[in-house]
Amino acid sequence: MSDLSSLGDLRGKRVLVRSDLNVPLDGPDDHRVITDDGRIRASVPTIRALAEAGARVVVTAHLGRPKGSPDPAYSLRPVADRLGELLGAPVAFAADTVGDSAQETVAGLGDGQVALLENVRFNAGETSKDEAERGAFADQLAALADAFVSDGFGVVHRKQASVYDVAQRLPHVMGGLVAQEIEVLRRLTVDPERPYVVVLGGSKVSDKLGVIDNLLGKADKLLIGGGMVFTFLKAQGHEVGKSLLEEDQLDVCRSYLARAEESGVEIVLPTDIVVDTAFPSGDAEPHPQVVPATAIPSDALGLDIGPESGAAFAAALQGARTVFWNGPMGVFEVAAFAEGTRAVAQALTEIDGLSVVGGGDSAAAVRALGFDEAAFGHISTGGGASLEYLEGKELPGITVLED
Ligand code: ADP
Ligand code: MG
Repeated sequence: MSDLSSLGDLRGKRVLVRSDLNVPLDGPDDHRVITDDGRIRASVPTIRALAEAGARVVVTAHLGRPKGSPDPAYSLRPVADRLGELLGAPVAFAADTVGDSAQETVAGLGDGQVALLENVRFNAGETSKDEAERGAFADQLAALADAFVSDGFGVVHRKQASVYDVAQRLPHVMGGLVAQEIEVLRRLTVDPERPYVVVLGGSKVSDKLGVIDNLLGKADKLLIGGGMVFTFLKAQGHEVGKSLLEEDQLDVCRSYLARAEESGVEIVLPTDIVVDTAFPSGDAEPHPQVVPATAIPSDALGLDIGPESGAAFAAALQGARTVFWNGPMGVFEVAAFAEGTRAVAQALTEIDGLSVVGGGDSAAAVRALGFDEAAFGHISTGGGASLEYLEGKELPGITVLED
């Protein structure tokens, strides 16, 4: 699908690439450390291919959610350094998005050299809902380049200046990473090999309920863990204590349980839960306790699926030919609540067929837990984008490339 050569001879051409370099960072503002560089590594092949073709590569990306103005906590500078290390060539860093520094940095590029512009969300035009404001910013971005490559899969569901509007202003093409991600998603939706098992977890409950709606008609089994479990358990009439709960989604969960029954889709919920009396924070010692999912104490907080559930989920995954997993089974960042996520990840590595891990935190979890990335069929760089695709929604950043 991606064909950089459709942009013609790239030698000496300025090519703007929208990448997804939104990596987790830790430490003080003046000494930020990248804790997981997966998205940077995934962005390298397209950038390298453009540089090798002699283009002057101008990368634009966002980091976190700054409020539309410069904020040192969200600077991409540490990312420029890491990108340079991975490319094996220095990356020039522009201290602004489209201003004097960006223009001078781009003008200073030689053929085959790479620059990274400062966090594109430092400009309010990037995410503005106002078409004119977004368009004006896209004009400035487009003025920096002769062509546009859309390679930030994690943002293709966003109608934003550097994703959508800029593609309307420059000759454009889909980058290799986006093409690869879309191809995998297509395999999950068009005639997937069966059995097809979907595992959902994480904390963005209402964001993820929509995808269940669509998958009820497609998957054979749906395993539910993580923070969304408790809205389901409550919908079945159980006490969930202080666990994550979305009261306004109880009816939705009830209707999904009923529909699953009618359509013969098996919904598997955990039977035991690891709880604690407080959400893990700072250096407070965790006090994990395993309780039945139907008897969560009123002062407890569910933080992981229990060992019996981990084993049951692994068993339910056995023999699957297609698996999509989005969202950790528990608060994997704390060792005491990481075992459910580990059990699911381990089961995915044993799949003979297509196994897909989607979601920033899920991808970070498999790496943090020490799994070999190569053991999975595909680790997606975009959580929200893959979910919206699976929900059957149109992705503006993809549609715009088709014109
Ligand atoms: P992804 O990025 O993979 O799409 P999410 O962003 O939805 O996943 O959720 C990831 C977060 O969910 C993790 O930080 C994890 O700590 C949290 N989480 C998982 N289970 C629970 C739970 N039971 N209660 C609260 N948070 C949870
Ligand atoms: Mg996340």
